[in-house]
Amino acid sequence: MLAARFHAAHRPLALDDVPVPEPGSDEVRVRIGAAGVCGTELHFTDGLYAPAKTPMTLGHEAAGTVEAVGSAVTGWAPGDRVAVYYYLFCGACRWCLRGRQNLCLAPRGVLAFAADGAFAEQLVVPAHCLVRLPDELSFEQAAPLCCAGTTAVHALTEADVEPGDLLVVMGSGGVGLATVQEARRRGATVVAVSRDDARRVAARAAGATAAVSPADLPDTVARLSAGQGADVVVELAGVTATLELSTAVLGRRGRLVLVGYSADQLTVSPLAMVVAEQRVVSSVGNTLAELEQAVALAAAGQLAPPVAGTLPLARVNDALDRLRAGDVAGRLVLTP
Ligand SMILES: [Zn+2]
Ligand SMILES: [Zn+2]
Repeated sequence: MLAARFHAAHRPLALDDVPVPEPGSDEVRVRIGAAGVCGTELHFTDGLYAPAKTPMTLGHEAAGTVEAVGSAVTGWAPGDRVAVYYYLFCGACRWCLRGRQNLCLAPRGVLAFAADGAFAEQLVVPAHCLVRLPDELSFEQAAPLCCAGTTAVHALTEADVEPGDLLVVMGSGGVGLATVQEARRRGATVVAVSRDDARRVAARAAGATAAVSPADLPDTVARLSAGQGADVVVELAGVTATLELSTAVLGRRGRLVLVGYSADQLTVSPLAMVVAEQRVVSSVGNTLAELEQAVALAAAGQLAPPVAGTLPLARVNDALDRLRAGDVAGRLVLTP
């Protein structure tokens, strides 16, 4: 089968012909219908961190059809339409038992990080990582839910977003646009931030009350909060400039939610944070239940990470180049 694999940083992914993977007894093989291209792929290709092995098939947003099931698998059959939860969790550790599979202590792998991922024609995962896909969702719609959509759901749950909150979304890519929609659904007033005009247009279309450049953010927050500051800032960029801007616009009891990251650092003043009782919250990925929630919301028409375009798998490097150039308003989706 065709697989787009990472061999080394600062090189295009290789289009390799690899053996079709066989499922173990508790695993299933999924024929990929669509795979989303996340900003995280660039962290590998640009050398921020390395996958656990090389070569590694990238891609952690996968939707498709069950093709083969292991001997011990119950409840799934060839032909079932599924979304894939990308943490291949153990199901038995203290965090899995708390329903926080994203913090699993002994995962079998994480797609693209420590297990071959979704930029391929087929994928093998444990059966307990599958979420059933309703007929009303296409694979192209469903794939971006697996990271972008559910990352937004998790971040806003961790931030305790409440109706009436003024919420800033710092960054308006795939996760950002999903965050705008989900924050609106939870009753927040949303300000989206992007340097890119097309992304600001997309953020307004997704439900943002305002979509502004970083330079215009302080005045916008001041106007919409009567000078009180933002209740929540969801930080998706993770570079020093946007992290500092985020802390600057945060109000009393404001929650700074760290989702994006780079090699940059953030220095904060404990005094400024303490007197305002601000909180720094971090949010990684999502739980299995939150993927089920994102799929249900999308099926009900309440969450739709905008698909910026669909490309054949063989053009994966074009998709990565466009993402790196900031030339994507939403999610690019690959189809084998
Ligand atoms: Zn992702
Ligand atoms: Zn576990």
